[in-house]
Amino acid sequence: MAVEKIEDMQSEQFDLINLLIYKEKKIDRLKQRNGELEAELKVADKLLETRNELLKFIPACEAHGDQCVPHALEWISKVKTLAKIIAG
Ligand SMILES: [Zn+2]
Repeated sequence: MAVEKIEDMQSEQFDLINLLIYKEKKIDRLKQRNGELEAELKVADKLLETRNELLKFIPACEAHGDQCVPHALEWISKVKTLAKIIAG
């Protein structure tokens, strides 16, 4: 086999190895991002759970029922104002 042919093959193998390393690094980064997203999702789920628990304590909105967030925010704001008045 000609020397150039062997050199070509070695070069190709080198390229393939580099490609594999690049892909592996990319997979590692994606795995890490996946883990980060899973953690973010857990936090979001927890916040949603807390929000739903909080909504249970707030009287239902007359127009939209017991899951109305604007009503809940307004209600919380009123309670805070009342608390300030009571505290003097
Ligand atoms: Zn409402």
